[in-house]
Amino acid sequence: MPKTPRPCPICRKPRSEDFAPFCSQRCRDRDLAQWFGDGYSVAGRPALPEEIAAEVTGAHEQD
Ligand SMILES: [Zn+2]
Repeated sequence: MPKTPRPCPICRKPRSEDFAPFCSQRCRDRDLAQWFGDGYSVAGRPALPEEIAAEVTGAHEQD
């Protein structure tokens, strides 16, 4: 049990143990996208190619 949990660096929500230091897969993907550069800079969406493919096929992921 963390005594001093830090917020997600992306959205400042309480982070999840599963996705530390982020709160969710979504924020982890967003952070990862920043490392890839501007190629997939679509705000608010996962930026992995497989996620984009899922969008194309109609599999949307909403909050
Ligand atoms: Zn977050």
